[in-house]
Amino acid sequence: MAMDLVNTSPTVWRGVEKLDALDALTAFLGEHGLGGWAVGPDDLPPVRALRERLRPLIEEPDPERRVLVAGELTAAVGGVTLADGWAATVPDGTPVTAMLGAVAGLGILAVQLHLGPDRFRPCSSDTCSGVFIDTSRPGRRRYCMPGLCGNRANVAAHRARRRAAGQG
Ligand SMILES: [Zn+2]
Repeated sequence: MAMDLVNTSPTVWRGVEKLDALDALTAFLGEHGLGGWAVGPDDLPPVRALRERLRPLIEEPDPERRVLVAGELTAAVGGVTLADGWAATVPDGTPVTAMLGAVAGLGILAVQLHLGPDRFRPCSSDTCSGVFIDTSRPGRRRYCMPGLCGNRANVAAHRARRRAAGQG
């Protein structure tokens, strides 16, 4: 969720703001198993601000500093707990931005703890400036949005190979 939220930013994919309206935020929550959380138009600016705070946390080169900042995000919400390894329980009535921050912070802590600090990486696509958290078992993920930047990169590489073969 933290990674997907960061990658809704217009700084990532061709200047497109993916959280452009309340409907988009509601859809985002639904896609991440957080549907039904009370949200209003006033929540959009703080959620966008949170996403700009989360990106440096993924890019953070110092694992200890990452733990510190992720811990601050979870501490902002009282009584947040990690259940079943990955699922977070947040107190009822928590504002959506605080809830998203706490869930993102907990997720980031869990990945670093269980999978290690090298799972936080920049996207390999030349056409994308996204970042991602690799939660796959083998840990060989390369793109932040495989359906978008992964595909484009593959197509570009394929065309380049075909051109090279044609010239050869
Ligand atoms: Zn990407």
